[in-house]
Amino acid sequence: MQSYDAIIIGTGQAGTPLAVRLAKAGKKVAIIERKFFGGTCVNTGCNPTKAMIASAYNAHQARRGADYGIVISGAVNMDMKAVKARKDAITEESRKWIADTLNGTQNCTVYQGSALFQSPKTIQVGNELLSSDLIFINVGGRAVVPPLPGVDEVPYLTNSSMMDIDFLPPHLVIVGGGYVGIEFGQMYRRFGSEVTILEMGPHLIGHEDVDISTAVEEIVREDGVNVRVNTKCIGFRPHADGVVVTVDCREGPTEVIGSHVLLATGRRPNTDDLGVEKAGIVTDQRGYIAVDDQLRTNVPGVFALGDCNGRGAFTHTAFNDYEIVASNLLDGDSRRVSDRITAYNIYTDPPLGRAGFTEAQARKSGKNVLVGLRPMAKVGRAVEKGETKGFIKILADADSKQFLGAAILGTGGDEVIHCILDMMYAKAEYTVMQRAVHIHPTVAELLPTILGDLKPLPALAPNSAKAAG
Ligand SMILES: Cc1cc2nc3c(=O)[nH]c(=O)nc-3n(C[C@H](O)[C@H](O)[C@H](O)COP(=O)(O)OP(=O)(O)OC[C@H]3O[C@@H](n4cnc5c(N)ncnc54)[C@H](O)[C@@H]3O)c2cc1C
Repeated sequence: MQSYDAIIIGTGQAGTPLAVRLAKAGKKVAIIERKFFGGTCVNTGCNPTKAMIASAYNAHQARRGADYGIVISGAVNMDMKAVKARKDAITEESRKWIADTLNGTQNCTVYQGSALFQSPKTIQVGNELLSSDLIFINVGGRAVVPPLPGVDEVPYLTNSSMMDIDFLPPHLVIVGGGYVGIEFGQMYRRFGSEVTILEMGPHLIGHEDVDISTAVEEIVREDGVNVRVNTKCIGFRPHADGVVVTVDCREGPTEVIGSHVLLATGRRPNTDDLGVEKAGIVTDQRGYIAVDDQLRTNVPGVFALGDCNGRGAFTHTAFNDYEIVASNLLDGDSRRVSDRITAYNIYTDPPLGRAGFTEAQARKSGKNVLVGLRPMAKVGRAVEKGETKGFIKILADADSKQFLGAAILGTGGDEVIHCILDMMYAKAEYTVMQRAVHIHPTVAELLPTILGDLKPLPALAPNSAKAAG
């Protein structure tokens, strides 16, 4: 039995920085990883997909060359092996950096293997037993494989196996119209595949306001993605050309034949093979580890960070979990998850930057809501760049004058959203930004203008109130 001051399970976005921080504070740390150093973000999530999206974006812009006075003789085609090689080089560098950092940190011992709780303070890795009074679970999640008839009889893909593809699928059928499905969908369409997205709800990215999801849907449709909403996947069977996906739908064919199928129907936490029951750690019905506002589980000394606690599903939320735990344990701070403001991007082109409330949430809040809107076609920077799709929507509280939220669907929206997010963290009145002099020409320069034209949120027509809720 090896005894440690702290054991960390998983080298994801919280585990890695926590191991280094604790070790540098003089603690004897063990960190356990069963697959790739860096977890989902580095290997099968954010970094590789955004690298591939960059290839897709540049292919798209090359095809639009004539719009910018660029003459490209001949067709723009993809070298998918080169796309994958570029993505792999980025991923491998990050993975290596993380492995080298952990292995090179004094007081930190790296174990490669699957961690299994044996008791609240004991973990088994291979043939070794490790014990500690402090255990941090950072096991992340994986793609849900829906238990539909025939799913085991067809060669389906997930976000992980998509990373191994170095060819162009002739027809990629994507089950699920959330952000993972849409990002892969637009990307592969731009690479040259025929793409069909099947979404069982009435809109893509169903948690967004309808005006946003409708605009995103139009954007991907304009790229040539075949979007089918209100279309529920109910089964699969092999076909000479690939896979038949059977669907329950109000309109259109009930069978879709694809050369390849990507399942993008959500994520589940990696807690089913962790032995949490042996430690008495409480999980919810979906397997997420229950934590309090400071990420403590019900078992003293055991914390859960990142996607596996169900309190966030992004790299920045996992990293913030690390910051909360490290500050509270090492700096005498009292940081909390509830201090965090919801914020994320969806990396379509153009991207969607989101912070705080949606319009539906603002309406439900009972506050006196003001809204400001501006199409990207009326943003000079977007016009100059020839990227005018999307719009900006800002929500503020008429009484406190604080920002409630914003959605920036448009070129640069993934960066510009931080102007609003930082104001929200500062709890600043929107009038501060309204009087700020932003740099010309930028997308952000229009934010003060929009704030100068805020209007009360119009009442919803009775039949649309339900949809917006
Ligand atoms: C396609 C895709 C695109 C994404 N894009 C973005 C994006 O653009 N921006 C963003 O913020 N987020 C994005 N995400 C989400 C982001 O990747 C995750 O939220 C983030 O990686 C979660 O980090 P984590 O530390 O909780 O877990 P992970 O990064 O998943 O790390 C968990 C680690 O634990 C290891 N592990 C699991 N069980 C055990 C065990 N029993 N023993 C030992 N080790 C174990 C795993 O192998 C893994 O390395 C994306 C996700 C996907 C799937």
